[in-house]
Amino acid sequence: MTQAIAQVAAIAATALFIFALYWMNDPKTARRGVYAGVLGMAVAVLATWVQPQIVHHGWILAAIAAGFVVGVPLSRVPLTAVPQRTALSHAFGGLAAGLVGAAEFSLWLREGPGGAQFTTFRTSALVVEVILGFLTFTGSLMAAGKLQEVRWIPQRPVTYPGQNFVNLGVLGAALVLGVLLVLHPTAPAARTVFPVIMGLATLFGVLLIIPIGGADMPTVISILNAYAGLSAVAMGFVLDNKLLVTAGALDGSSGLILSIIMCRAMNRSFANVLFGAFGTVQKVKVIGEQKEWKQESIEGAAQLLEQARLVVIIPGYGMAVAQAQHKVRELYDQLTKRGVTVQFAIHPVAGRMPGHMNVLLAEANIPYTALVEMDEINPEMSQCDVALVIGANDVVNPAARYATGSPIYGMPIIDADKAKTVLAIKRSKNPGFAGIDNELYVKDNTWMLFGDAKQVIGDLVKQFAGGGLH
Ligand code: NDP
Repeated sequence: MTQAIAQVAAIAATALFIFALYWMNDPKTARRGVYAGVLGMAVAVLATWVQPQIVHHGWILAAIAAGFVVGVPLSRVPLTAVPQRTALSHAFGGLAAGLVGAAEFSLWLREGPGGAQFTTFRTSALVVEVILGFLTFTGSLMAAGKLQEVRWIPQRPVTYPGQNFVNLGVLGAALVLGVLLVLHPTAPAARTVFPVIMGLATLFGVLLIIPIGGADMPTVISILNAYAGLSAVAMGFVLDNKLLVTAGALDGSSGLILSIIMCRAMNRSFANVLFGAFGTVQKVKVIGEQKEWKQESIEGAAQLLEQARLVVIIPGYGMAVAQAQHKVRELYDQLTKRGVTVQFAIHPVAGRMPGHMNVLLAEANIPYTALVEMDEINPEMSQCDVALVIGANDVVNPAARYATGSPIYGMPIIDADKAKTVLAIKRSKNPGFAGIDNELYVKDNTWMLFGDAKQVIGDLVKQFAGGGLH
């Protein structure tokens, strides 16, 4: 009976997970997608819990309570910290898979060779689970630390000669020991080899992330997502749990697809993201003589905007930190009221998480039709009268087109520099996430509006609404 319940529940939960991913494709149905995912997970946990072999209910209740203690504060982080929060979730997922693998192995050892657990397939799955689980754990912790700018984790790529060799050597050693374990699972040395594999995978997670910096971190997080999913698939094979296999496969493949989309958006290959940051980061020099930053007044900027036919707003991380989206909506209303066409240029990695700008602008009820993806807006940029850059930096940095030593080289950008006039809002002359200068700000046709994005946009709105302009 419980077997039948488990099978029906596995199908229901899998269907809910698939619908969750499908609905999350569109902002209009995303909320429904989240509910479907939560329901699917609840069904999966309950269906596993009712199995007769589950006897220690106290431990399960304690684990659920511990999950709440960690999960509730994690759900309250600001939107700008979601990437590091996501990395922490992957870290916990990887750790769980790794620990379950270690517990399962010690159980097999206790049962001895007569236990018939050590089939080649199951031991191979166990080794894959443990290696992926532990490397995801430390790799994700490092990624979260880098994004959170934890003081003792260097943000920039840390590189040294022979780094590729050392990293691949550590992973290679873990794999070789894994193969030996699969071939001789009951040998006395297995008790020692297993923790060594765990240690090497843990070390590899750290080594994998330290040479990766800046602009590649979003892609790395989604690759780690794929690893966490694959490790859950392997755990499903070890525990003979089909639901874990399908849920892990959905998790792993969605992470992989997202990484591929992001790699394409940045014009990078996987190998280039993971190993391409070797070498030192060069500061991009502003070509020609050191140019002056020119400032514009609120009145002058408002006039430029009012006289424009087409204004393209390019939002970035600074708009998110300043929480300026509602003021931006007011500015959009003021301009469209005056017959100005306003479009929003959305870069796939603007902000600190995929879709960051879409979420913020949707929150401020800016119509989806005004949001234009990078590939569609770029051909129009030469027709654009004013490009209004709000707290964006790397995603409009022309160095990405030509500066081969730059960490953002090859990343497609929004061609703000091709607009007739550029108005750029930021607080200072400091660089953006990738830590490099941006020649856009010193171009002849660029005018700066220094200040907090919410404040500056609010002043522009006042200028329009308060009778300064009609
Ligand atoms: P950047 O981080 O390059 O630049 C943001 C700019 O906003 C800064 O130059 C900063 O200048 C300005 N700023 C900060 N606070 C404010 C404020 N309150 N008011 C006005 N301006 C402000 O952002 P982009 O969106 O252009 O680029 C995103 C970067 O983040 C890329 O390198 C991307 O690879 C990376 N990334 C993206 C992720 C994603 O998935 N989207 C995840 C992780 C990283 P100042 O200090 O002078 O104000």
